[in-house]
Order: sequence, then structure tokens, then C-alpha cells
Amino acid sequence: MLVAAAVAFGALWMLGTIAAAPALAGFAAIAAAALIASVNTEAAPASLTKDEPSAPGVADPLIQAVLSALPDPVVALDHRGDIVALNARAAAIAPALRPGESVSLGLRVPEVLDAIRNARASATSQRAEFFQRVPLERWYEAMATPISGTALKGSLVLLAFHDLTPLRRVEEMRVDFVANASHELRTPLAALSGFIDTLRGSAREDPAARERFLGIMQAQAERMARLIDDLLSLSRIELNAHLRPDKAVDLGAIVRQVSDTLQTLARDRGVEVKTSGISDPLVVLGDRDELIRVFENLVENALKYAASGKWVEIGLSFAEGADGEPEAQVAVRDHGPGIAPEHLPRLTERFYRVDVTESRAQGGTGLGLALVKHILNRHGGRLTIESVLGQGATFTAHLPLAEPRREEIRAS
Ligand code: ADP
Repeated sequence: MLVAAAVAFGALWMLGTIAAAPALAGFAAIAAAALIASVNTEAAPASLTKDEPSAPGVADPLIQAVLSALPDPVVALDHRGDIVALNARAAAIAPALRPGESVSLGLRVPEVLDAIRNARASATSQRAEFFQRVPLERWYEAMATPISGTALKGSLVLLAFHDLTPLRRVEEMRVDFVANASHELRTPLAALSGFIDTLRGSAREDPAARERFLGIMQAQAERMARLIDDLLSLSRIELNAHLRPDKAVDLGAIVRQVSDTLQTLARDRGVEVKTSGISDPLVVLGDRDELIRVFENLVENALKYAASGKWVEIGLSFAEGADGEPEAQVAVRDHGPGIAPEHLPRLTERFYRVDVTESRAQGGTGLGLALVKHILNRHGGRLTIESVLGQGATFTAHLPLAEPRREEIRAS
């Protein structure tokens, strides 16, 4: 710019258009303006040095955008503990939190407030766990993480919450399960050792009592064996839960086999077992032994708990499933006492029984329907239970059909 101005004024002076003095003055003015401009452009970035960044304001759009993108509830706090921003998930679990207000006003959890204070004082992450009773009972883990030395004036504390409730529930279920399993095993074990003492003592010389006690001991030992067998089956099925069985099996043949096997029990209980729809092949991809177990459990239950209904029907059919695809359905229907609605959602829980004494008297372990549910889940299927008190119950196994049969049904 200076060279161009010098050439222009030089040319005008040489051509005699202007005198030397005005030419020099004009050049000087342009040079001064250029110099000031250059000083200003160098000075501009200097005013935005990294040492003096802007402070995070309330509802800072950048911080707000980052928090909104995070999957967990997160709150950003400034160095005083005032809320800079929070995402919608944080607002949902702590509706009293407001941007611009102190976190202690909206979150009255001493453990979390301590963690925030300690995080700020120690400049390290601090963790706290707390239990929230309302609106829903939930366990949370809160992590207070200080962020400093960034482009922010002062420091931020990021307060992130993680919902521990599902983990706690699984933990509780595991503890309950071990307690239940031990209790179930301890009962027959206590009976066995009691009878051993009796046989060694008072019943020593009494052959009739000995025979009777040995009979009870055998029944208790069989109960323990059944329980261990069911527990092992459950853990094996859970271990393979992610592996879908891939062998084509005909449900008609399986149901025929189950109904033949249980004929003796049915006769003993005075119940007639009728089957329908088993002549047409109904092919699913499955594990034959596991599916036999499913229908044995369902029919055995009907014979044990609903013998008063006098007959049990096993019906095979295909129908549209919940996903709109054709599926195989095997319904085991009895005409016994039925099940009250409050029990229905819990029947497939391990060790859940409507009547514990009756279940034990029938040789039940309380694991039959849990096994049924797990086996059907592994096959991509499900169990539905319908019952009206006094009018019997229907347990239906729903299973996806093997692909060629599906194609055939879709085409027809
Ligand atoms: P159990 O070993 O006790 O039979 P299950 O898991 O097979 O365990 O069944 C759980 C409970 O469901 C049984 O104890 C019984 O109370 C109830 N139940 C199952 N099937 C029937 C049925 N067909 N009619 C009435 N109650 C039933």
C-alpha cells in the first residue's frame, strides 16, 4: 500500500500535476493511516489472550449443547456452586434445579453437596450414592468432576448422575435367589437328618416305623434331586440364552410324546388329556429336549393343580404373533380352580407359588414356570397365561415358525 502510494504521488509530482510539498503531505497521511491500521490488527488478537477467557454465563449455549448431548442427567456448576446449565434428564430427576440458582436449593442431598464441595477443594472427582424416594424409588450414583485450566474463567464442576436401580434390583434378586434356593434345600435336608437320628434312636427296633420313615426319606431325597436338577437346568439355559437353537423340530411330535409320557400321572389323577391340531406338522427351530421340558411342565402343572377340572386340552395352532408374523401356538388349557389375577404376573418368578404348601405336597420346586419362560425366551418365543378364578387356566407357548413354513403361510 505504501509503495503504491509513493509511486502514485511521485508520478503526479513528476508530471507536474501537484507540487512536491502536497505530494509529500499526501504520502505521509496515507502512510500514517496504514501504520495505525497495522497496529490495530496486531492489537486485536492480543485482547483475546488465552489467559483471560470469558466466564461461563448462565445457560451458556455451548455448555448447554454439550450437556444436552449426554445420555445421563448432568448439571454444570460454576465456582460458587450456582447452576450454569443442566440437561433435560437432570431436570427430570431433580425438578427444583434452576439455572442461575445454587445447586443446594434444588438438590437437598447432603452426600452430593459434600461431593461437590470436596471436588472443588481437592480438584479431583468425587463420588456419592443416594436413594431417592419420590417420585419413584431409585438409587443414584453422583460423580462431581472439577474442570479447570480450560478456556473457562474460574472452574466448572460437572455433576453427572447414573441410575443404579437396575443394578441394585439384579443384586437383590441374586441375593433373594441364593436365600430361596438354600432354604428350599435346607428343608428336606433337615427332614433327612431328623429321620436318620430317629432311625438310630427310638425307631431302631421298629421295622414298621423304619419302613415308613425310609419312604419319607426317599421322597425328601427325590425332592432335593429335583430341585438341584431344576437349578442346574436354569443356569444352563441362562448360559445359552443368547444362542438361538437351530434344529427343525415338529411341535406335534413333541406334544404327542409328552401326552403319552404323562398318561400314567393323568390316570392317577383321574384326568383325561385331549390333544388337537397335532396331525399337521408345526415346525419350529428348537431344542427338542428343552421343548419337551416346557410342555411336560405345563401339562404336569395342569394335572397337579387342576385335576378337579377332569380334563386338560393341548391345542396346537398357528396364528399371527405380536410382530404380525405367523407363529406356532401350543395352548395347555385346564378346567381347575384357576389363578387369581394378582398372581398371574409373578407366576414365572423363581420360587413363586400361589400356595407353597400345595406346591410342596405336589412335589413342586417352584422353578417350573421360570424354566418354561427362559426356554421360550431362548427360542425367540414367549409364554402367556390367562385365567379366570373358578374357570381354569390357559398357558400358551408362542414360538416363531421355521422360515420355510412362514413363507408357505404368507403365500397362502
Ligand atoms: P411348582 O413347582 O410349584 O409347580 P411352577 O413354577 O411350575 O412351580 O408353578 C408355580 C405356581 O403356579 C404353582 O405353585 C401353582 O401355585 C401355580 N400354577 C401353575 N400351574 C397352575 C394351574 N394349571 N392351575 C393353577 N395354579 C397353577
